[in-house]
This record gives sequence, structure tokens and C-alpha cells, in this order.
Amino acid sequence: MNFLDRIMTFIKSLPWKKYGELALLPVGVLALGGKVICEKSKRNVKKLGNVAQTKVQGKISDATRKYHTVKKTWSDNGHFTLFFVPANGQNVTKKHVKRRHLKIAGVGIIAGLMLFAGSVGYFSHRYIQQQSEMDELKAFQKLKGSQELQIAALQKITEANQKKLAEISKLEDQIRESMKKNGMTPPPKTDASKYGGQGGDSEVPINKMDIMYLQKSNVNKEATAKAKTLQRMLDTIDYENERKNAAPNFYPTSGGVVTSGFGGRANPFNYSRRENHPGIDIAGDYGYPIYAAGSGYVVQSEWYYGYGNFIKIDHGYGYTTAYGHMSELIARPGERVKKGQLIGRMGSTGYSTGPHLHFELRKDGQLQNPATLWQ
Ligand SMILES: [Zn+2]
Repeated sequence: MNFLDRIMTFIKSLPWKKYGELALLPVGVLALGGKVICEKSKRNVKKLGNVAQTKVQGKISDATRKYHTVKKTWSDNGHFTLFFVPANGQNVTKKHVKRRHLKIAGVGIIAGLMLFAGSVGYFSHRYIQQQSEMDELKAFQKLKGSQELQIAALQKITEANQKKLAEISKLEDQIRESMKKNGMTPPPKTDASKYGGQGGDSEVPINKMDIMYLQKSNVNKEATAKAKTLQRMLDTIDYENERKNAAPNFYPTSGGVVTSGFGGRANPFNYSRRENHPGIDIAGDYGYPIYAAGSGYVVQSEWYYGYGNFIKIDHGYGYTTAYGHMSELIARPGERVKKGQLIGRMGSTGYSTGPHLHFELRKDGQLQNPATLWQ
């Protein structure tokens, strides 16, 4: 293996895959210098000799001699000569080159090669970088596309929910009005300003997704607050209904005549005696229905001294009513009765002069005139 082959093998063994290392090429070229060119010429001359040895022997010797002369001259006075030998060995031409010029050309070639290698390295790096940036951009656009879809879907749902909330608000207002008409005090209106309705033309870029989640959360909060308000309204209405149903203002029998009012009267068994009548007497036919004056619990249903067959109902809210002289007891102790429910039949049991209902009303334990209930 001669010097040239060794150099070529060395060059081939270099790691050419990395562009940056192309810069090593000019270093190799510089190392070869003129030596490479001269060696090659020499080899060509030798090869030629084998083909047409006898014919060009003299010229080869001449060329060899001249080569040595040029080589000597080059090292002696800064010149050297290049030989251009055609394949047929004829018309060999030569070119004198100044050593200075060769230096300049060498430096130029090295600089050019280095620039080329650097450019190749730089641009391939840029290309790879741009390629990866493009890939990232594509991936981002894809993600953004799917996010836009999600936002649009969320927006639709939120809008639909806001519409439903508005409908609920309308109903809430109607219930509020109805409550006022029925003498009830409705709970205060839900404060809408608490749930969104803020924002505007901020110049700060805001994530659309964040806005959607905020809106969704506000709708949820408002719906929760509304549900609480509606529950309070319902409780108020229930309470009011219960109170109204409990109020013992239902006339406790069908027809009949009030034969004795509330308060001072003559004793029905002994007219010379005055007594304080604790209720009202309604006379009617035997077996007339007796109704609960209001809803409540039957606390007593039994024979009770002079009252005969007797029922007492606790209506709550401080009210109780009592029913006496009945021929039949229908409601049982502990039973829950509704306003107007049949609880017994008119009769004349106990201290009674004829079929009538003795009806009493108490508020917080104090006797009241029942007639006031039906005015
Ligand atoms: Zn009476």
C-alpha cells in the first residue's frame, strides 16, 4: 500500500456522516499539497511506460528528469511544474506554477471547502430544526382543532342551561307573586350578579376553555342557589297550607240552628240559674253529620261527663276544638283528621234537652267564641 492509498483509506475511514467533519477534508488536502499531484504524474508516467515502453522511454526519462529538475527548482526558487500526459503518451504539456500562487490557491481552496462544509452543516441543522418545528405546529393545530370543537359543544350546553335557568326564574317570579297574593312572604330573589355576568373586552388573551368552564360552574352555582330558594318557597307554602288547613274555621255540621251562644246564659235545666256557656249549641236532627272544624289529631273520643259522647281535636298552632252530646263517635283517639272530615253524629247524650252539637273553641287554652270563626 503506497502513501496515496494509505491517505485514501484514512480519508474513507473518516466519519463522513457528520457534515461538520467535512472540514477535515481541506486539512487532508493541505497535507497532500503538491506532493499528491507530483506523485500522480509519476505514476501515470510509469503506467504509460508499460504500454509503450520503447516508444516513450526517452520522453519518460526526460519527463522524470524534468520532474526532478522542477522539484528541485520549486524548492530552490519558488516554482514547480505540472505535467499533463495524455493516454497515448504524446504531446505532453507542462505548466509552471509559482509557489506563492499555489499557496494562495491552497488557502482559497481550504477556505472555500471550510465555508462549504460549514454551510452544509449549518443548513442541514436549520432544515432539521424547521422540520421538527413544522411537525410541532401541525400537532398543535390538530389539538387546537379538537379543542375548538369541545369549546363549541360546551358553549351549546351552557347556553341551553342558561335558557332553562331563565325559564325557572320566570316560574320562580310567578310563584313569588302568587305567594304574596295569598298573604305569604316569599324568600328574597336569587342575586343573579353573584353568578357571572362579568368580563368584557379584556386585552389580555384569555383561554376560551377557562371561560367555558367558568360559565358552566356559574350556571351550576346559580341552579343550586335557585333550588334552595324554591325549596324555601315550597316550605313556606306547605307551612301556610298546613296552618290554613289546621285553622278550625269549618262549620262543624250541616245546617242546624244556633240555639245558644257563647257566654252568659240561663241554665237550660234550671232557668233561674245563670251560667257561663263555654261554647255554642247548634240544634239539628238526630244523626246529622259532625265534621272536624280543622285538620289535627283526635286527642279524646269517649264519654265525658255531662258532654256525653265527646271528641277533642288538637289542631296545632295553639288551637283545640271540642264536640259534645253526639249519638255516635266515628273518629278514634290518636287519629289524624282532615278539615271537614266526618267524626261523629248529632245526638243528645249527656246533659242535653234535645239533639244538638255543643261546640267549643280554645286558643292557647283560653275559651274563644266559635261564632267569630265563621264571620
Ligand atoms: Zn252547649
